[in-house]
Amino acid sequence: MPTKKTKRKTKRGIGKTVKQPFPPSSTETKTLQYRQDSVHDFAWFADKRFIVNTDSCRLPSGAVINVYSFYTPQQAATWKNSVQYAKDALRFYSNEIGEYPYSTASVVQGPQSFGGGMEYPTITVIAPTPTPKDLDQVIAHELGHNWFYGILASNERDHPWMDEGINTFYEYKYMQSKYGTTKANELLFQTTAVRRIDQPIESTSEEFNEINYAASAYHKTAEWMRMLETQLGTNVFRNQMHQYFAQWKFKHPQPQDIKLIFQAELGAKSDEVFSLLYTKGVLPNNQLKGFKLVTPLKPASIKSYLQNPTKNILLLSPAGGINGYDKLMIGGLISNYKLPPNNFQFIAIPMYGTGSKKFTGIGKLNYTHMSDGAIRKTDIFLNAARFSMNDFIDSFGNKYITTFNKIVPGIKFTFKQKTPRSSVRKYIQWKSFIMSEDNFHFGSDTSITGVDTSVRQKISIVKNNYQVNQLQFVYQNTRALYPFQYQFSIEQINELVKPTLTINYFFNYPKSEGLNVRLFAGKIFYANGRNEIKSFEYDRYALGMTAPNGYEDYTYTHYFLRRNEFEGAGSQQIAMRDGGFKFRTDLLSPEVGKTDNWLIALNFSSSISEKINPLSILPFEVPLKVYADIGTYAEPWDKNSTEDRFLFDAGLQLSVLKEFVNIYIPLIHNKIYKEYYNSYLTKPRFWKSISFTLNFYNKPLSDLNNLLEF
Ligand SMILES: [Zn+2]
Repeated sequence: MPTKKTKRKTKRGIGKTVKQPFPPSSTETKTLQYRQDSVHDFAWFADKRFIVNTDSCRLPSGAVINVYSFYTPQQAATWKNSVQYAKDALRFYSNEIGEYPYSTASVVQGPQSFGGGMEYPTITVIAPTPTPKDLDQVIAHELGHNWFYGILASNERDHPWMDEGINTFYEYKYMQSKYGTTKANELLFQTTAVRRIDQPIESTSEEFNEINYAASAYHKTAEWMRMLETQLGTNVFRNQMHQYFAQWKFKHPQPQDIKLIFQAELGAKSDEVFSLLYTKGVLPNNQLKGFKLVTPLKPASIKSYLQNPTKNILLLSPAGGINGYDKLMIGGLISNYKLPPNNFQFIAIPMYGTGSKKFTGIGKLNYTHMSDGAIRKTDIFLNAARFSMNDFIDSFGNKYITTFNKIVPGIKFTFKQKTPRSSVRKYIQWKSFIMSEDNFHFGSDTSITGVDTSVRQKISIVKNNYQVNQLQFVYQNTRALYPFQYQFSIEQINELVKPTLTINYFFNYPKSEGLNVRLFAGKIFYANGRNEIKSFEYDRYALGMTAPNGYEDYTYTHYFLRRNEFEGAGSQQIAMRDGGFKFRTDLLSPEVGKTDNWLIALNFSSSISEKINPLSILPFEVPLKVYADIGTYAEPWDKNSTEDRFLFDAGLQLSVLKEFVNIYIPLIHNKIYKEYYNSYLTKPRFWKSISFTLNFYNKPLSDLNNLLEF
């Protein structure tokens, strides 16, 4: 693939087509003829809205050529200097490699779908870019392809490094001469190398995955060329490239041909230098050393790390947080997290809750062992967290706030992918949640006399300590069509053992978006059998048809605004787990569909077409979906049971902020939910029946997820 694939962030709005009227067409037919010698490819672009800029360009030999740029009014501000950028690049490449041999060069603005640019001899098409600097870079890169793949017509499928990589070396040189250096791409490449998922420079485009195509074929080759230039000296290196150009222009050079060119100067060292094309890992000239203190309080320290990265850093930063009990928390962050990651990583965020007047925070120690074997990555970790979790105001106006502490040791084995292009990822993980939480104990204070007994409450706080052992296996296929994920989990809490299986499957619709199907199945076993006392004692760990509230999130894995509430908006938050129903019946004991036996549920969530979206009349986009849940559990299947065997609920789902917030509006459900709605919910009932989730991370297999789990 010759398309430039650097991960360029596109700013909001750039991709949006601002409708511009097309000028009317002429009634006459026009015939255009194009003739060009010594090219092996051809492309032609047309748009009636094009603004055309042109200028002549004097090449190093004195020859004068014509340079054109074509762009739409939408990109006019960015493309103002496009002809100058093209002239700069043509002269730069002519000096470094050999003179541009054609009499014309054109750069054309194309649609966003080009995602960068695409090169053809004498003409290149470029997608809208956010800034003029980005445009300068893409123009240099795409015009540079006139040399590497155009004039020096190497085989870009068999040896992508010979065009993309060598061209990127010159693009970097060009950018450095105008704007200075950055090592950001090297840090991304080294991250792939440290994680043992990089590929050698000499791989075919078929073998490369998307990340390595950019990181190895483009970037690592550029760094390898830079190493070659440093070893030979700038002048000798330039001479050899001039020789390569003279000897191979308008021909098809192979890797061996460029090696022979440099062998003349490298001598005995040439085998060693060229063998680096076939090996993985960081190049010898780019090994990191030293230490830096990095802090956002001094932005220059971040810039300095990107320009001259070190092996170790200490990251210091102010930090903050918020929840309904601690209120605003202020504190600091101390960590050595960076790219590329070190084997030993730590992060600590101690904070102080301005509402609770308590110390809170999170911490993590993680040791990673990398291997080329079947288990690519082994993480041994210790996570910790402490936050406030509940409050109570007694009749004298005294406020009590309780906290939880958790310490979570664990180990995670991440399996190696079968091939670099495989979309399958899997891991197995063990965690022990060692929990300590404060519970309110409401007693009667007999020392107070003369008041109503309800006022004589004596509130004390008792510690509740428990441990949850959890073994998890996750298998994920991120393929573009019908991606899916299985998660098998088994938890043990004293006598209770709970295996659960969660499957997520996504059915793509032909045009865009699709239907997400989730299947959940769970079963509870007790050592030495089940009885009523155990059912009561282990109630909190039971399986729920409704997705759990804060109290039921007994491992404190999910972020809840107000964890233990029965009123107010905070009480309407749920976390996607268990049966995944959205209709809450928290005021009942037991809640509808709660069981300590078995439970199965199916959840559907579908995007809806713009045509039938009633909110599409609004001036801004509202991401509306429909959801439906159906489930069954053990109890209604008992002989004497009169309960509904199948429960269902359905409604509308608003997914905002890239699914960070999901709001569920129930519309249809079983009679039992309707009865709850009418008997237990006080007005405004409809508002109270709405639930929401907050998802900080919904990519369980990304390495970022590992960092965000506490
Ligand atoms: Zn390219």
